[in-house]
Amino acid sequence: MLSRRTRLGLSAIALVVIATLLGGSQAPIGTLGGTRALGLDWFLLNILVLAMLFVPLERVFARLPEQGIFRPGWLTDLLHFGVSHLLVQVTVLLTLVPAAVFFRWAVHPAIQGAIASQPALLQFVEIVVVADLSEYAVHRLFHAVPLLWRFHAVHHSSEAMDWLASSRIHLVDAVVTRALAFVPLYVLGFSTGPVYAYLVFVSFHAIFVHANVRFRFGILERIVGTPKFHHWHHATAPIDRNFAIHLPIIDRVFGTYWMPEHFPAAYGIDGEPVPRRYLAQLVWPFQRRA
Ligand SMILES: [Zn+2]
Ligand SMILES: [Zn+2]
Repeated sequence: MLSRRTRLGLSAIALVVIATLLGGSQAPIGTLGGTRALGLDWFLLNILVLAMLFVPLERVFARLPEQGIFRPGWLTDLLHFGVSHLLVQVTVLLTLVPAAVFFRWAVHPAIQGAIASQPALLQFVEIVVVADLSEYAVHRLFHAVPLLWRFHAVHHSSEAMDWLASSRIHLVDAVVTRALAFVPLYVLGFSTGPVYAYLVFVSFHAIFVHANVRFRFGILERIVGTPKFHHWHHATAPIDRNFAIHLPIIDRVFGTYWMPEHFPAAYGIDGEPVPRRYLAQLVWPFQRRA
């Protein structure tokens, strides 16, 4: 209402009026014309919680204050965010099922029993290590194999880093990465509690490392993945550094660690091969090219 951009304020007021007319907070959830299969509530909850958390954070502690919330490409990223949340039931299924179908042979009840009987906190730490090791391997594959890079290049096409840029991930990239990262967790048989705790942790941490924030963490930066660490993964140069999400030590072990004192000067892919619009990004990896 206070903004100079009256169009934005008026559309917000119109949306609030419509929401109130539809029943406001009294409206039953999940009964609107069979939307149960779509993660509409999941999308709305997440966009609200994440925006309330990250927009003020990026305003107060901005690394690039001039960037703004509505920087170029924000709508494309919001569409990525929206579609991946609406399809959450499909993508979760595609993430979990392959492990159970293709790796049931690798399951040993005795090993699973021993792992699941450990304290929850210990299991959580182990999950972070195991998951990040496989995420590292899969992530490097997506950079090294040209066919996979087509899909992963969409994520690297962001030229502005912020919390919303984290959601620019091609659906194929997201599903394949998560499904492969889930395999060792399934085979080792961690308890559901620590696995759920990890899912919450990874969803926030993966967004945080993209955020437009200037936080520095001193000695912790060498141990835990920070915005500066992942921003260098998105730098135009050097490329192919910092593949881990949570544990930079994995990159140090495999010689891909890159952590200068400053943040990168530019993000994206040299030559900008990826189209800017959402639908174009979705079909781009499937298109024949010379
Ligand atoms: Zn990457
Ligand atoms: Zn990223």
